[in-house]
Amino acid sequence: MSTTDASALPDYAPVPRSALGPALNEQGYYVGRVERNLYWVTDGTYQCAFLTTSDGVVVLDAPPTIGNNIQRAVDEIAAANGVSNKVTYLIYSHHHADHVGAASLFEGKVTRIGHEETRRLLLRDDDPARPPNEETFQDRRTLEIGGERIDLAWHGSNHSPDNILIHLPDHDTLMLIDVVTRAGHRSTSRTSPRTFLATSKRRRTRSRTRGSTSSAATTADSVPGTTWPSTSST
Ligand SMILES: [Zn+2]
Repeated sequence: MSTTDASALPDYAPVPRSALGPALNEQGYYVGRVERNLYWVTDGTYQCAFLTTSDGVVVLDAPPTIGNNIQRAVDEIAAANGVSNKVTYLIYSHHHADHVGAASLFEGKVTRIGHEETRRLLLRDDDPARPPNEETFQDRRTLEIGGERIDLAWHGSNHSPDNILIHLPDHDTLMLIDVVTRAGHRSTSRTSPRTFLATSKRRRTRSRTRGSTSSAATTADSVPGTTWPSTSST
């Protein structure tokens, strides 16, 4: 009987290339299309998204690790498509600094929208990097910006007291941050995402971002009745 020299075996399987995310450009970001005029940006770990409209660009979250590359990504896409690169709206998923800590880069130029609890918490934190959203809602709010629809919904405290669902029904996409659900999602994620972009079209889902302690997962058609799992704090 032959024996195997266990010392020659690796301690763990190599990380699959597909788990490392897309290659970043020289500026340190990747921008890709989610659906039509909806795009996502990543630095390899964090993500945000933006929607180009006839009334300017709507940015969904502004992680500080992506920072000025958010505008660079917008500029790149706007130039390629001949649309405005002017960011006019900024939507906050929740108040945590790792997802909206670059909000001040757009100060004075945008209308900020988020949950009423997000505003309260940002006023409490008094962080110059995270200006409070001046526009708020309680449970649901539908935005019509430049002919594009964005549904905001608060289903109760989960990852944070103010974390919301950002649903773009005409793009079959749901954005949810920092939440993992244990059942009912059909994500094709290969990693644990920190930000989750799900598209329900053709029963397809998309999941973005390498992450660590938390991820997000539910599909657009499973939003009603969502139950929340245990959460993390970032
Ligand atoms: Zn968070």
